[in-house]
Amino acid sequence: MCMPNTNPTADCPKVIEYILSKAKSTGINVYPAAAITKALKSEELNDFEALRSAGAAALSDDGRPVINSLLMAKAMQKANELNMPVLSHCEDLFLSEGGKMNEGKVSEKLNVKGVPAAAEDCGTAREIALSAAYDVPVHICHVSTKTSVALIRDAKRRGVKVTAETDPHYFSLTEDELLKRDADYRMSPPLRTEDDRIAVIKGIKDGTIDAIATDHAPHTPKEKSDFLSSPNGSVGMETSLAAGITYLVNENYITLNRLIELMSCTPARLLNINAGTISEGAPADLVLFSTDEKWIVDINKLHGKSKNALFKGKELSGKVKLTICGGKIVFTNM
Ligand SMILES: [Zn+2]
Repeated sequence: MCMPNTNPTADCPKVIEYILSKAKSTGINVYPAAAITKALKSEELNDFEALRSAGAAALSDDGRPVINSLLMAKAMQKANELNMPVLSHCEDLFLSEGGKMNEGKVSEKLNVKGVPAAAEDCGTAREIALSAAYDVPVHICHVSTKTSVALIRDAKRRGVKVTAETDPHYFSLTEDELLKRDADYRMSPPLRTEDDRIAVIKGIKDGTIDAIATDHAPHTPKEKSDFLSSPNGSVGMETSLAAGITYLVNENYITLNRLIELMSCTPARLLNINAGTISEGAPADLVLFSTDEKWIVDINKLHGKSKNALFKGKELSGKVKLTICGGKIVFTNM
C-alpha cells in the first residue's frame, strides 16, 4: 500500500487512477491510500466515494495528520459508512515542530532539537478517543513509543475498535544509531529508546500490535546527504521480512507463523484485500524464502533506486528466493 503524501498528492480520482495504471505494468499489486483532506491541508475532506470508485483502498493523511479533531471525527464516520480503513500517522505537529530525532539523551548530546514521545502519544490518544466516542474503527500506523503501546492495549481491552502496526526499525534499532549523524536513520516517528523498543516487542507479543508494515520511504542520496536538513524516511521493504526473522523470531519473541500473520494475513484482513491465505481458489500471491540464509545488507545490491536503508551493513537472517503474484513469477533469486 502506497501513501498519498507524494507530489502530486493522491487526493483525487485522477491521481489514484494514474498510480493504478502505472502499477499494472509492474506485475505486482499496488493498493493506493488516498488523502483524507485536500492537499493534506486539514481544511476540507476529499470525496471518499469518488476516491473509492477510482480504486483507493484506504484513507490517510500520513505524515501531515489531520490537525482538526472535528474534521477527523467526520472523516472516520464517513469512511466507516463506506467500509474504507482510516490509517492514522499519529503526531501532534505543534509538539514535533522542528524536531529532527527522538527528544532524549542522544538529542541532548548532539544538541539537536528533538521530537518528544508526547507528540506521537497525543495523536494516538486522540484517535482512540474519537474511535470510542463514535464507535468507528481506526488503524494506528507505525507505533514507536511505550505510551502509545499502553494506550492501544488499554483501548482494546475496553472494546474500542482500534488496530495498530509497527515497523521493523522500532523493534530492532534505537536512537543510538543517530550518533552516526547519518540522515538515513532519521524518520517520522523517530527511532526511540531501548525502553520503547522493548515495549513495542511486548505489544507485538501480546497482540496489542496487529501488524508489521514497512513505512518504506525512498529518497535520493542527494536529498539524504545532509544530516539535519534532509527529509524523513528510510527504505525498508526489501529488509522487512529478514528484520522480522532476525530481531523477533531468532530472538524467540515470536514464532515464524506469528510473523507471517503480522506481515501477511492480518494486513490483508485490515485492508479488506483478498490475500494473505494459501487455499484453493485464492490468488496465488506467494513468497518463497529461506529462514536461515544470512546476508549483509549492501545498499548497492538493493533493487530500489534509493539507498537510504537503515539496516545497511547489518547482517540479517532470512532471504526471499521467489515471489509469485497472481500465479506469475515476478522475482527470483534462486
Ligand atoms: Zn507516517
